Amino acid sequence: MDNKTTKQLAKAISIEALKMVHRANASHIGSCLSMADIVAVLYGSVLRYDTKNPTWPERDRVIVSKGHACAIMYAVLAEVGYFDKAMLEEYGTNGTTLQGHLSHHVSGVELSTGSLGHGLPVACGIALAMKHASAATRIFSILSDGELDEGSNWEAILFAGHQKLHSLVAIVDYNKIQSFGSVSEVLELEPLADKWRACHWHVVEVDGHDHEALLQALKNKSSQAPTVIIAHTVKGKGVSFMEGTLAWHYKSPSPEQLQQAIAEIEAMP
Ligand SMILES: [Mg+2]
Repeated sequence: MDNKTTKQLAKAISIEALKMVHRANASHIGSCLSMADIVAVLYGSVLRYDTKNPTWPERDRVIVSKGHACAIMYAVLAEVGYFDKAMLEEYGTNGTTLQGHLSHHVSGVELSTGSLGHGLPVACGIALAMKHASAATRIFSILSDGELDEGSNWEAILFAGHQKLHSLVAIVDYNKIQSFGSVSEVLELEPLADKWRACHWHVVEVDGHDHEALLQALKNKSSQAPTVIIAHTVKGKGVSFMEGTLAWHYKSPSPEQLQQAIAEIEAMP
């Protein structure tokens, strides 16, 4: 897809996620909108996958560690054809596989997540196995900034750098807000790029809403070392009353707020 099309994909999945969270009276829409552009570029222009054969051995692997942002993932997986979009109506209802955190029972999801700090370590294990097998598979892991407070991530970061896991690309959704406050208030991460660099990672910093910048960063990963893309993002991106606010980590939009949010997303360039 070209940038225009990935932007359309980002809009479509943002609107679906808004509707899903509204219907289910669920949380985490701010976290979803923060990474909509990242997953749109990934699924629209970067990843190798076959929706008719979800376990195709040569597929690229996507491990979304911030499993609470599952609505945007279910939306993109449905949009690209892993399952019928009508199934999104089930999100958050009793008995559905589309639960409030990511489930590997959903087609296209590699790993159930929600307990933070688990995704990157698992991605490291897959990347090491792929390296031993000399496979061309790439492994992408999307992390929140807040979950970098988990020590398990730093073990994984040390390990991947030491093992030169060049097929691994970590993407940090760096929206500067975590569940109980701003990242700088709760546990400062800066200088974040320097920390990854010190652990022998190739580091790229981008505007996480700039599709061309994301595409270049995702396509031009290092062939020698693991790559981290530090994506500077805005929590609640695209909806004026959600952007940069902690409350929308939790709140669900009212019918009126949903209509306004959809109108604002549709009006984005
Ligand atoms: Mg955050």
